[in-house]
Amino acid sequence: MELGLAGRRALVTGAGKGIGRCTVQALHAAGARVVAVSRTREDLDSLVRECPGVEAVCVDLGDWEATERALGGMGPVDLLVNNAAVALLQPFLEVTKEACDRSFEVNLRAVIQVSQMVARSLIARGAPGAIVNLSSQASQRALPDHSIYCSTKAALDMLTKMMALELGPHKIRVNAVNPTVVLTPMGQANWSDPHKAKAMLDRIPLGRFAEVENVVDTILFLLSDRSGMTTGSTVPVDGGFLAT
Ligand code: NAP
Repeated sequence: MELGLAGRRALVTGAGKGIGRCTVQALHAAGARVVAVSRTREDLDSLVRECPGVEAVCVDLGDWEATERALGGMGPVDLLVNNAAVALLQPFLEVTKEACDRSFEVNLRAVIQVSQMVARSLIARGAPGAIVNLSSQASQRALPDHSIYCSTKAALDMLTKMMALELGPHKIRVNAVNPTVVLTPMGQANWSDPHKAKAMLDRIPLGRFAEVENVVDTILFLLSDRSGMTTGSTVPVDGGFLAT
């Protein structure tokens, strides 16, 4: 399916590893002009070597002022993928202030901040746009030790609907993608234990974790005009987990 992304300018957060990195590679291959935002300089350097022309911005999105400085002059962006997140797993009774603050700063507050910057510029230019927020199946199901992560993603699902409501009249669509486990560095850190993995796999009707490509294909579809009537949705890429 031709997605018509060539020439569009896209910004991807959390672009250094995992789903964000593969999203940049796919957008670059589709002819989009990409701004890749991430925290570790070496990841961005190797990404730019792989995908010449990609613009790299190195910033910790948990730092509001640094983000304002780093992205303040980013220029016009048509498509935004809010992908950066942390998964700090703790049993509920052991949740710390630090993990709570950090998780909400990166997983939710940075989405608000970067989306405001992109949406304000789109509105000022009178241009249409599309935003995709990387949520999770964890936004809708309780998982052991995931109190804070689940809560950030539940909030992100509702933020997606609010942004769709208020930005729709400006022709800006906003959707969330809600994957099951993907064995990226984040997925490997949290799901490598075979017993834990089996308990999750037993709850997934298709009986497997998602591949990064499954998630990236859905992101690209939601960024493209092929999904032109879809906004405010939370799209599972979960092998049926949320259906059970
Ligand atoms: P990942 O492998 O941990 O990669 C995340 C990327 O985001 C890394 O490049 C990381 O950079 C960057 N990042 C994190 N915090 C940042 C910050 N404060 N500022 C700038 N960049 C930051 O994660 P992933 O598995 O690809 O996950 C991508 C998205 O999918 C996340 O929103 C996640 O919640 C969601 N998701 C993942 C899974 C899964 O099983 N993997 C399942 C459902 C949903 P550094 O490494 O340098 O910190």
